Amino acid sequence: MRGATPEPGPRTVGVVGGGQLGRMLALAGIPLGVRCVVLEPGADPPAGPVAEVVAAPYDDLDGLAALARRCEVVTYEFENVPVAAAEWLAERVPVRPGPLALGTAQDRLAEKRLFTALGIGTPPYVAVDDRAGLRPAVAEVGLPAVLKTRRLGYDGKGQVVLRAAGDVDAAWETLGGVPLLLEGFVAFDRELSIVAARGLGGEVAAFPVVANHHQGGILRLTLAPAPAPAPAPALHRGLQEQAEALVGRVLDALDYVGVIAVELFEVGGALLANELAPRVHNSGHWTIEGAETSQFEQHLRAVCGLPLGSAAARGWSAMVNLVGDEPDPAAVLAVPGAHLHRYGKAPRPGRKLAHVTVTAPDEATRDQRLADVLGACGLAPPAP
Ligand code: AMP
Repeated sequence: MRGATPEPGPRTVGVVGGGQLGRMLALAGIPLGVRCVVLEPGADPPAGPVAEVVAAPYDDLDGLAALARRCEVVTYEFENVPVAAAEWLAERVPVRPGPLALGTAQDRLAEKRLFTALGIGTPPYVAVDDRAGLRPAVAEVGLPAVLKTRRLGYDGKGQVVLRAAGDVDAAWETLGGVPLLLEGFVAFDRELSIVAARGLGGEVAAFPVVANHHQGGILRLTLAPAPAPAPAPALHRGLQEQAEALVGRVLDALDYVGVIAVELFEVGGALLANELAPRVHNSGHWTIEGAETSQFEQHLRAVCGLPLGSAAARGWSAMVNLVGDEPDPAAVLAVPGAHLHRYGKAPRPGRKLAHVTVTAPDEATRDQRLADVLGACGLAPPAP
C-alpha cells in the first residue's frame, strides 16, 4: 500500500428501529466491519442479539442523543420514524436517506404527487379531507375504489375497498376522521416491486424486478426475478427497463442515499406505482442468498459512502414469509437450496416471524423447491 492511509469510512451506523430489518442490517455489517446501534423501545427486539440497543422511544431526545453520540451516520428500518426526530438527528449526524424521503413516504398523497410530478403512472387518486369530500371523490375516481388513510397504513391496514355506492358511508365510519386518499381500484395483472440503491455519489444499482403475492394485505411470497409474462420475454425486458427508469427518477428527485423499494402494479405491460418504502424491503429479502450483493449490505455500503455492489441475481430465488407461526425448521432445511431466517419473535396472528429463501440454478428447479418448502410449512401455493 502506498500514500496516505485511506479514510476508513463510518464504522458505526445508527438504525432507528430494531426489528427484523435492523437485525438483517446488523448481520450484513459484520463482514464489512460496520457495527449497528439500534434505537428501539420494544423489549427483546429482533436486532438485540446482533446490535447494540439504545432502549428508548423513537422521539425521545435522550435516546436520539445517545444514538447520535454512538454513530457516524444514521438510517432507519421503518418509515414511521417521526420526521421531527430525523430532522433533529440530521443537525447532529448525517441521516441517510434524508428526512425529505422519509416525509414523502409517510404520506400517501405526497408519495402519489411525487410519482405524478415525475411522470410516473399511478392509480387515479383524490385526497379526501372530510366526509363531504368523499362522494365527489368517488364520482371522480369511479368504483370500485380503495379508501386509504394517508398516514400510518401498512400491510393492508388502514384501507377499505368500496365496491358500490352503498359502501361509502360504512367506509367513512371505518376510516374517517383522519386525512384520507381515495384511489381507483386497479385490476392489475400482477404485483411487482423494484428494489434499488443510490450511492453517495449518485450512482444507482437496481435489483431485478420481482413478483409479489399478498394475502390479507401481507406479503407472502416473492419470486425473483419476476417470471417472464409468457410468451413475451421482450415485454419482460421492457418491464425491467420501465421499473429501473422510474425508480431512478424517484431516487434522483429525493437526492436519495440508500436502498429504496417501489411497489408496482403491472397492467397490460405497463407499470403503475403504488407506494415507496424508504428502506430495505421485505420483497428484497431474497437478495441475501439470491443476489451478488444483498439489499442489506447494499444499504450499508450506500449510507457509509462505499461503492455499491452488483445487484445481479445469482440464479432463481423465491422468498416465503412465515406469518403467525413457524414450521419445523428441520422440515424446511431438508429442502435443497432452502435458507431459513428466524427473527426471534413471539408468535402472534399476522406477525412476520421468519422467512425462507430457496435458490436454484434454473426456474423449474426453483419452482419444485418452492413447492417443497411450501409443503414443509403447511402453506398452500399462491393463486395464479
Ligand atoms: P398498500 O398498503 O398500498 O401497499 O396496499 C396493500 C395491498 O392492497 C396491495 O399490495 C394491493 O394488493 C392492494 N391494493 C392497494 N391499492 C390498490 C389499488 N388502488 N387497486 C387494487 N389493489 C390495491
